[in-house]
Amino acid sequence: MSFESLGLRAELLRAVSEKGYAAPSPIQQQAIPPILEGRDIMGGAQTGTGKTAGFTLPLLHRLSNTRSPQKGRRPIRALILTPTRELAAQVAESVRIYGKYLPLRSSVIFGGVSINPQIQKLRAGVDILIATPGRLLDHISQKTVDLSAVEILVLDEADRMLDMGFIHDIRKVLALLTEQKQTLLFSATFSNDIKRLANKLLKSPTLVEVARHNTASESVSQIIHPVDKTRKRALLSYLIASNNWKQVLVFSRTKHGANRLAEQLMTDGITAAAIHGNKSQGARTKALADFKSNKVRVLVATDIAARGLDIDQLPHVVNFDLPNVAEDYVHRIGRTGRAGNEGEAMSLVCIDELKLLRDIERLIKREIPKVIVKDFEPDPSIKAEPINMGGNKQAARNQNRRKPTSSQNNQRRPFSGNSNKQSRSRTR
Ligand code: AMP
Repeated sequence: MSFESLGLRAELLRAVSEKGYAAPSPIQQQAIPPILEGRDIMGGAQTGTGKTAGFTLPLLHRLSNTRSPQKGRRPIRALILTPTRELAAQVAESVRIYGKYLPLRSSVIFGGVSINPQIQKLRAGVDILIATPGRLLDHISQKTVDLSAVEILVLDEADRMLDMGFIHDIRKVLALLTEQKQTLLFSATFSNDIKRLANKLLKSPTLVEVARHNTASESVSQIIHPVDKTRKRALLSYLIASNNWKQVLVFSRTKHGANRLAEQLMTDGITAAAIHGNKSQGARTKALADFKSNKVRVLVATDIAARGLDIDQLPHVVNFDLPNVAEDYVHRIGRTGRAGNEGEAMSLVCIDELKLLRDIERLIKREIPKVIVKDFEPDPSIKAEPINMGGNKQAARNQNRRKPTSSQNNQRRPFSGNSNKQSRSRTR
């Protein structure tokens, strides 16, 4: 199938061909036709599948084929809500790139930066607004945004927006929109909360889905390195140096842990930056830009900060800590092996995390191979301890959702099962 056969406008085909896309990805093949017909969509797709173009291209097509019935000032005709600032910025960039040959104006608003330039842009008139819920509500309360003419609403990474506690904000925004709008909801997972939201919001939606949710991409090789907690950082430095990795995304469970790890890697002579919710927007943008341009080798991120990061062809992802919620493991390793590229996801797992590991293996329905790295063998005399949640609100919420069972603390025999007990160092 070609982009031409999807019936998109010539201006969009030109922008797509300049991006170098040879053919629409599966989610694009499935989502673009019904969106062009004006149907609501329930999309099951993770970042990395091409979902952004999957909703942006038909959205741009529809807006440029019709005029807003609202007279006067250029009204906001499409609203795209995303959970994080980074994702908002990335979606805005996609809208700009795909829409570069169309006379539509777009703008992005998120917190952590001054509100005044955003107000100026909104005043000048914007067709497509990309926003995070919190800052959008600030604008709503200051009456600097009018959503009454929105024709298309996109909820991107809806599951993460709910996880981050945005449901009330989203409801407030929904109350300001007309009933007749077209709604496109994308989510990597389908919890009951998401289903409830979709039932209320979507009108006979077309279901589009690429990978079965909660399955890890086939193009990602996964591996567990059992290691003691206190030796994780040394093992990480060793893996990066001995394999000469140039670009590694490392996940940390807590913001504090992310900062500390980035600092420690720097002392090991490995350039690193941390990205998480407590960092200023400027610092987050800079860290991401430095990572993308290979100025820093390691980006240490918390789950929320990393969600939706669009980094092309990321070869290595390391779970320095396992996530508290098994679904987050699938999201994390989705950062690698994207758009047909091979990727490698490594998890450094200490004895405290065996329960989390079992939850993950149950979710992805496979056992992840375990390889003990020579000189980093776990000490069998170390007993499991409860996991430190680091005062991270998200972690605390997840902790409430899934209370660790006492078995986690009683684990004596690390990494039993068919783990690869032969010590060997990885040379790749
Ligand atoms: P997304 O899932 O929207 O974050 O997109 C993931 C990556 O795939 C981005 O870097 C896109 O530029 C890229 N991409 C999107 N559509 C295509 C396509 N049809 N062919 C190749 N790459 C694509």
